[in-house]
Amino acid sequence: PGKLYVVATPIGNLGDLSHRAIETLASVDCIACEDTRRTKNLCRYLDIAPRLISYYREKEQEKAALLVELLQAGKNIGLVSDAGTPAISDPGGILVRKARQAGIHVVPIAGPCAVTTALSVAGLSPTPFFFGGFLPAKKSERQNMLRRLASLPCTLVFYESPHRISDTLADMVHCLGDRPAQLFRELTKIYEECLEDTLANLCDRLRGGIKGELVLIIQGAPDTAADPAANLEELLIWYRDEQ
Ligand code: SAM
Repeated sequence: PGKLYVVATPIGNLGDLSHRAIETLASVDCIACEDTRRTKNLCRYLDIAPRLISYYREKEQEKAALLVELLQAGKNIGLVSDAGTPAISDPGGILVRKARQAGIHVVPIAGPCAVTTALSVAGLSPTPFFFGGFLPAKKSERQNMLRRLASLPCTLVFYESPHRISDTLADMVHCLGDRPAQLFRELTKIYEECLEDTLANLCDRLRGGIKGELVLIIQGAPDTAADPAANLEELLIWYRDEQ
């Protein structure tokens, strides 16, 4: 069988594409990607013209089965997402699982990821940290989730979109209490910046709106929670039910 290469691509700055990523993308038989137009642009930049197979959230199951057949037939496949590391708040997990189940060798081509990029420059205690990806869009579900996280004694990291960040910050103040936080915007890009403040102040500062891609890092609860392990267990159950 062929190999599945899970290739991280830049989260903004093309200079972050690794040599190994370039070599891999240039040598595989085809590339499974989210948005073929975006990946075509990347391939044009690299001066390569591989076969592209679209692989996106809504069709993950179906496309994963097809890709595993190709792998079993001996094709080497590169998996990329629109930006950063596949399977991290992006499609990829289902294909990786199915490939592993089929005994395919899955090779990580490590590189940019917004969570680790933000944590690396946050200066908040990076371990332990909890990565929640995108919080639920529905207010009641978002608040429930935040309440479960309120007593966790670890740094909390989330992705959020610019149009939802104000609501999310308001819910955080309500459910977690006001805490020190950092909002990283446009990491690795020209307008990269970090807004550092309490959650409530950030909420005020963002009244005029904000643009760009965002990672939010929040200080954890003091390590005095009665039983953080019980909270974690509850959370894990919640996540499992969501999958
Ligand atoms: N797989 C990607 C990764 O490895 O980070 C994440 C994909 S997820 C669909 C996109 C979200 O990641 C954005 O909404 C934002 O929260 C975060 N993100 C991606 N690029 C970013 C950047 N340059 N600066 C800040 N956040 C970024």
